Amino acid sequence: MTARVLVVDDILANVRLLEARLTADYFEVLTARNGPEALEIASQERPDIILLDVMMPGMDGFEVCRRLKAAPETQHIPVIMVTALDHPSDRVQGLEAGADDFLTKPVDDIALITRVKNLARLKTLNDEMVMRATTGEQLGLASREEMRLATADHRGKLLLVDDRERSARRLVEALAEEHEAEIEADPQNALFRLPDGGFDVLMVSLSLDQADGLRLCSQVRSLERTRHMPIIIMVEPGDDARLLRGLEMGVNDYLVRPIDTAEMLARVRTQIRRKRYSDYLRNRLEESVEAAIIDPLTGLYNRRYMETHMRTLAKDALESGRPLSILIADIDFFKLVNDTHGHDVGDRVLRDFAARLKRNTRGIDLACRYGGEEFVLILPDTDLGRAFQVGERIRQNVAAEPFPIGEGGAQIKVTASVGVAALEYPDDTAESILKRADQALYCAKRDGRNRVVADAA
Ligand code: GH3
Ligand code: MG
Ligand code: MG
Repeated sequence: MTARVLVVDDILANVRLLEARLTADYFEVLTARNGPEALEIASQERPDIILLDVMMPGMDGFEVCRRLKAAPETQHIPVIMVTALDHPSDRVQGLEAGADDFLTKPVDDIALITRVKNLARLKTLNDEMVMRATTGEQLGLASREEMRLATADHRGKLLLVDDRERSARRLVEALAEEHEAEIEADPQNALFRLPDGGFDVLMVSLSLDQADGLRLCSQVRSLERTRHMPIIIMVEPGDDARLLRGLEMGVNDYLVRPIDTAEMLARVRTQIRRKRYSDYLRNRLEESVEAAIIDPLTGLYNRRYMETHMRTLAKDALESGRPLSILIADIDFFKLVNDTHGHDVGDRVLRDFAARLKRNTRGIDLACRYGGEEFVLILPDTDLGRAFQVGERIRQNVAAEPFPIGEGGAQIKVTASVGVAALEYPDDTAESILKRADQALYCAKRDGRNRVVADAA
């Protein structure tokens, strides 16, 4: 992970120190020595993160932060306020000015890199979303507004694993201003509650009496269903060894006891935003993959997916010497259904037909909508005789049970014709088998419909 960081401080020695540490970790560094200069560079260079000193002559850090967050071109850039240790109230003011996180002088190495990395990741996700939304808008798909709505709510639900009742209560009360938080003293219980509890962030104390909080973190990271859960650990001051182990195993952030509530709120907010963004992006990706391979009316695979996948299945069958069959089903006189009852009823019949098809196939079969009212099944490990039986079962099911077409229990009779063919010749391909199945279907239509014909080969 790399990013461009703008370091703002009126004291040259401080700028140089932060610059050296960040460059050592391969971050690119820009610098500014006062507020107006920082604003200028921020709007021109668009850094990924800004490290902002609070105390500067002229315009102080709070004012710079407020202006950055007010300007559309810089408001998405995360700001880390660098505050003095003896001014804890600065952090509350920083939050009010819109700061995303805090560092205390003298700046600790682990803290610096952890904060910068977290916010750099958040920025990357945000940029990615903006980019997708722009493309989406150009294609007439998702809009920026839709994206904003999907990720606007930064209220979250937290699970706090801590067995010190009093301190846990204090944290929950502070969190309650923005979020909902529950306390769990037992890490094993926490592990049970996490997958279905709707939690956005897990906070874990590393000072539990009876258990090792890091073990819980590692379990959460290794379980499929909790893998993406943001984790913040709470450590004792000076316990760098365990803190580093936590960060190495993928803990997202940490708080040092005694916990400053403004810092806690800032960090929780960052993790929740990050989770919202990545959930959104993941869902969109799943949606777009689905849109490319699924027929929207019936939920079956579309023709394009089938044609690609059937080649693989045919090749596998040829190589392994196992049987493979292809079945085409075509609804009889379907044009008449549309003409008599309307297109919507036609659509409904298609959906029901697809559902029956699906019900009569196994998990390894591939059911797809081939075209208008034509459906194809690819049946691995199935010879021609078995495929004929499958076709016959589908035909009978369709013919025997009328299709509902309206609210009042109205129904219509529907029949279908089916053609089947199987892998027969060494030079057979998916296309050649499909072609023979289509010829068999033609025979079924010609011979009176509502029947199954197997390819004579
Ligand atoms: P046959 O028994 O010979 O198969 O006759 P048919 O009427 O079923 O066949 P034909 O190919 O003449 O007509 C198919 C009809 O399917 C025509 C078309 O309007 C309709 N159709 C295709 N796609 C859809 C769809 O998505 N929804 C609806 N409602 N109708 C569709
Ligand atoms: Mg038809
Ligand atoms: Mg047709």
